[in-house]
Amino acid sequence: MLPFMAHGHLIPFLALARQIHQATGFKISIASTPLNIQYLSSTFNSSSDEPENDHIHLLELPFCNTDNGLPENSENLSLDAIGKLFSASLSLRKPFHSLVSDIAAKQGHPPLCIISDVFLGWATEVASSLGTVNVTFSTGGAYGTLAYSSLWLNLPHRGRSDSDEFHLPGFPDSCRFNVNQLHHFLRNADGTDSWSKFFQSQISLSMQSFGWLCNTAEEFEPAGLEWLRNFLKLPVWAIGPLLPPMVLNNDYSSLSVAASGISTRRAGKKLEISIEKCMEWLESHSPASVLYISFGSQNSISPSQMMELAIGLEESAKPFVWVIRPPVGFEPKSEFRAEYLPEGFEERLEKRKQGLLVRNWAPQLEILSHKSTGAFLTHCGWNSVLESLSQAVPIIGWPLAAEQAYNSKMLVEEMGVSVELTRGVQSSIDWKEVKRVIEMVMDKKGKGGDMRSKAMVIKEQLRASVRDEGEDKGSSVKALDDLIKTLQSKWQMINCIS
Ligand code: UDP
Repeated sequence: MLPFMAHGHLIPFLALARQIHQATGFKISIASTPLNIQYLSSTFNSSSDEPENDHIHLLELPFCNTDNGLPENSENLSLDAIGKLFSASLSLRKPFHSLVSDIAAKQGHPPLCIISDVFLGWATEVASSLGTVNVTFSTGGAYGTLAYSSLWLNLPHRGRSDSDEFHLPGFPDSCRFNVNQLHHFLRNADGTDSWSKFFQSQISLSMQSFGWLCNTAEEFEPAGLEWLRNFLKLPVWAIGPLLPPMVLNNDYSSLSVAASGISTRRAGKKLEISIEKCMEWLESHSPASVLYISFGSQNSISPSQMMELAIGLEESAKPFVWVIRPPVGFEPKSEFRAEYLPEGFEERLEKRKQGLLVRNWAPQLEILSHKSTGAFLTHCGWNSVLESLSQAVPIIGWPLAAEQAYNSKMLVEEMGVSVELTRGVQSSIDWKEVKRVIEMVMDKKGKGGDMRSKAMVIKEQLRASVRDEGEDKGSSVKALDDLIKTLQSKWQMINCIS
């Protein structure tokens, strides 16, 4: 397996490795750069009876850091640095080729398959040169993956005005996209800039793979999957949601221990607040009354947006847990300063028990799984979306980057489980609007109640898709079985012929 070097990609790759091993007993190797391998290995449960590293091998690829000081993971990077990380990922090709050919030489045959990230499309060529097949894993949902791929492959989008709606190849005519849903680098891309060149070439290469995997479920995204299959003209296996089993089984007793899947999400993270303190705080509030706010592993909002959000939260008087990190424009890894928020904000919150501010990283799954959590204000990263809906928690969307705006569009238009508060870091958001939206979504009746009922239906769909009880197998379990069988016969065909 070859994930892209970002937290939101490493997590589903490792979860997929665990799922494949559980279903088949296969050994799986995950290759990445040293820092990311360190993140992944920090999630392995050393006390387990069957040491995980007996069947999931973590293999290091050297990181060719031509640009001094460029980090190996996209977490907390500026857009400019993320662009450099994309370019640097191309240099992994040679060492990856050597690594897979060493594995093949040791085993006496090539691996069954290489599962690679959609951003690392060159793996298709490595696979075919080594006598195996390549499957692309997009780590996102079907709708978002389709939108993002089609937008890059159908440039340019500039020249259109802000209010222009347009048809995007791959989607039906009735589904219109809006220019202001495009991130500014997509809006300015024309095929000659470095972002366009990277995405166009890597997505096109990924489209030459044997098939694609999506972290979604048939019953959850029927339309998105149908459109994606038509667009790619490839088999697409929906094998998600890749979430820890205890989250999907309502087994909350094990949530507070460093159990396998949960700790995956904390790869390489130090919590600055104990899980117990978070849980205690949530316990002191009534069911579905708390708003959880987080912008994922690598994003933040602008200083003025942060101020307005804080004022809106305080004025709404609703309890909340907010994962705070420095606003855009300040060193992301630096200390959070009180001046980023209204004067006396944290003290007032503490006194009134209205809000809990968590610095940098929170135990998100535990918070979302808690009965007191009533809604999630999120950047609509795909892992966050699945984690929220698997707990029937409705969403307030604030998409910031990548395919998040299209995830948000789907959640609002197709599923009715979200309201989009605003978009991006440039928008001017007023605290009164923040207050209005929070009050509407947290309301147990009206629109908020309706969103909650819809989220409940989705929660059941997601859980049904991963059911694995004897003959009673959910769609995603069947899809994984089918993927393995298909790969085995394909592998035999290639290796008999050669
Ligand atoms: N996450 C977390 N605590 C935080 C922020 C993020 O546990 O304070 C986890 C979250 O549970 C999710 C992942 O990090 O599994 C973020 O992935 P997502 O796809 O939502 O967004 P990305 O970080 O890729 O933008």
